[in-house]
Amino acid sequence: MDVAAGPPASLWRRTTEPIADDPRVERVEVVVVGGGITGLATAVLLARQGRTVMVLEAREVGAGTTGGTTGKLSLLQGSVASGIRAHAGADVLRAYLEGNRAAQDWVRTVADGDDSVIQTRTAYTYATSPEGDDVLRREAEVLAEAGLEFETLGAGADIGLPFAVTGALALADQSQVHSMRLLARLAAEVRRLGGRIVQHARVTGIDLVENGVRVRTAGGDVDARFAVIATGTPILDRGLFFAKLVPSRSLVGAYRLTDGRPVPDGMYLSVDPESRTIRGAQDGAGRSLLVAGGAGFTPAVKKASRRCASASTCGYRSTSQVPCGSPGGRRRTTAW
Ligand SMILES: Cc1cc2nc3c(=O)[nH]c(=O)nc-3n(C[C@H](O)[C@H](O)[C@H](O)COP(=O)(O)OP(=O)(O)OC[C@H]3O[C@@H](n4cnc5c(N)ncnc54)[C@H](O)[C@@H]3O)c2cc1C
Repeated sequence: MDVAAGPPASLWRRTTEPIADDPRVERVEVVVVGGGITGLATAVLLARQGRTVMVLEAREVGAGTTGGTTGKLSLLQGSVASGIRAHAGADVLRAYLEGNRAAQDWVRTVADGDDSVIQTRTAYTYATSPEGDDVLRREAEVLAEAGLEFETLGAGADIGLPFAVTGALALADQSQVHSMRLLARLAAEVRRLGGRIVQHARVTGIDLVENGVRVRTAGGDVDARFAVIATGTPILDRGLFFAKLVPSRSLVGAYRLTDGRPVPDGMYLSVDPESRTIRGAQDGAGRSLLVAGGAGFTPAVKKASRRCASASTCGYRSTSQVPCGSPGGRRRTTAW
């Protein structure tokens, strides 16, 4: 990848009109830094309370993680629940699930039943290896303890994937989203409520001043009562976060299945040592695509090309869950 050129555009970014820019002002009540889902959801919530908001985004809305996500809005999240249970206890896990359910409901309200933005799906966490089985069992235990009602499926269960699983958990009535169309809806609401979305405005610093903050950008300062930092990665030199941060990259591909098999209907996440994520989507012409990802790695430690090579031999097995290659029976349309 040519780093200077930025990350490759995802399927979601390729199938959404660019989001319009507003003129910047020098004074506003709240500045929100970052135009991903965290920043735009915050801006909407503030604007609904009558605050005047300006979102400052360094690149374009959705240029960060949100534009490259796999967009599963699910309470089944691989082995996340057992991780939280182990480190923070049962009460925190229950609160986490409750918070996730509330966020899921909120996003559904924003999407307002628009099928081009959100679809209801069954979510599956699955394993195909003895190591994955152990993780799956632990995940089932802690989710049941936290009161989540899900289905446990044994070895050989048909969950819609074209290879055998050794076990799976299934949770109905979850959702998958088109992340960029969701952001476009949020941006439109910010604007409708009198807020502004300013792109190509990288924030370089924030100073405390009398009665508020001064937000510094290459294009000039903005004074505000409050600033919300929603940049995903820290941008201010506080808490030594820059030294604690480890970059992580995942590879995702969208494939057209060319051998007549249907795209699986569910949303899937494996808990095997090398995790995989699978869901369906549509291209700009409404044709079904398989979206498959995983192969997470630390950039600069391993090169993407080497991860691609290993992913193509261990991913979707004999079929196609390969973020990089295009083996028989499928043609890759987009990779990011
Ligand atoms: C491959 C992949 C798959 C995923 N799949 C899922 C999934 O299925 N379900 C799920 O729930 N989550 C998933 N996630 C995680 C999810 O996508 C993220 O948690 C979420 O998108 C983070 O949103 P954000 O708004 O916090 O950050 P971002 O979307 O990264 O937004 C931060 C924004 O801040 C901007 N910014 C940065 N610095 C500055 C600055 N100095 N000034 C101004 N702007 C700045 C960036 O350009 C960016 O647009 C996935 C992540 C990846 C990588």
